[in-house]
Amino acid sequence: MDISIIIPLLDEAESLPELSSWIEKVMQENKFSYEVIFVDDGSEDNSWNVIEQLRSQNENIKGIKFQRNYGKSAALNEAFREAQGDVVITMDADLQDSPDEIPELYKMVMTDGFDIVSGWKKKRYDNTFTKNIPSKFFNAVTRKVSGIKLHDFNCGLKAYKNKVVKSIEVYGEMHRYIPVLAKWSGFKKIGEKVVAHRARKFGKSKFGMRRFVNGFLDLLSISFVGKFSKRPMHFFGLWGSLFFLIGLGISVYLIVSKIIDSSFPITNRPGFYLALTSIVIGMQLFLAGFIGELISRNSPSRNSYLIEKKTGL
Ligand code: UDP
Ligand code: MG
Repeated sequence: MDISIIIPLLDEAESLPELSSWIEKVMQENKFSYEVIFVDDGSEDNSWNVIEQLRSQNENIKGIKFQRNYGKSAALNEAFREAQGDVVITMDADLQDSPDEIPELYKMVMTDGFDIVSGWKKKRYDNTFTKNIPSKFFNAVTRKVSGIKLHDFNCGLKAYKNKVVKSIEVYGEMHRYIPVLAKWSGFKKIGEKVVAHRARKFGKSKFGMRRFVNGFLDLLSISFVGKFSKRPMHFFGLWGSLFFLIGLGISVYLIVSKIIDSSFPITNRPGFYLALTSIVIGMQLFLAGFIGELISRNSPSRNSYLIEKKTGL
């Protein structure tokens, strides 16, 4: 199969018929073999009925229905497990992304050899203050932290080699950082394509202001987990020992001064409090690292590595 198109959706019943006939048209014009996987992320409108009806007309259309709303990341993750196409395309259900981009994305993955091609909504039709400006900031920070040169990390329209989606696990609200997850799994050829974007035709955006807070926290955990989850002691142990040593150094200085000169006041100087807090903080960091290390030793994935190739085995 050439292409799997994955579409997570929450209450998008009005858009689905138009979207799926547009996709069908593009696929037929280009003679692609394909599947469309709709993931109904706990919609409360008519979406699932619409999906079942679409399936009865076209058996390339498949669906997964969540029992409740788990979020876009969960929806993508489930569909990634099912996807059979050589190239996996994700897109939003709200008709803001255009299926006309698919053939070019397919070509960039299959012919130009990209692991991931991310859409870039260069001209964007969303609210300037709640979306466009904050997302510029987010993209700049993510570029800095991850070292990946993309303008638009969170674009819903992306194309992947099948192998990429089978190697990554998306949870929480990590869908914003899939290129980062992929880079950490060793997929380095990440490209970008300017894509057409349109204003939302039906319904309203499903992500409110909370996404800034969540997005930022996820960015922190992603940069941290990627670097240290398999070796927590290297972070906490280092800082813990440093703090502890600083505290110890100051204590020694205070004690020696007191021995030399018994009128030397200890408790009414800043060094005393610095020493106390440093030692306590140092111990805590060290313990956090140690406990982290014990946990990661017991984790079932402690020895799971992504193997690219084998020969003779
Ligand atoms: N979506 C989803 N689960 C959610 C929230 C959103 O599957 O909990 C889907 C939504 O239906 C749409 C896509 O994710 O297909 C992008 O959402 P939206 O268009 O609301 O985001 P925006 O374009 O405003 O960033
Ligand atoms: Mg949208």
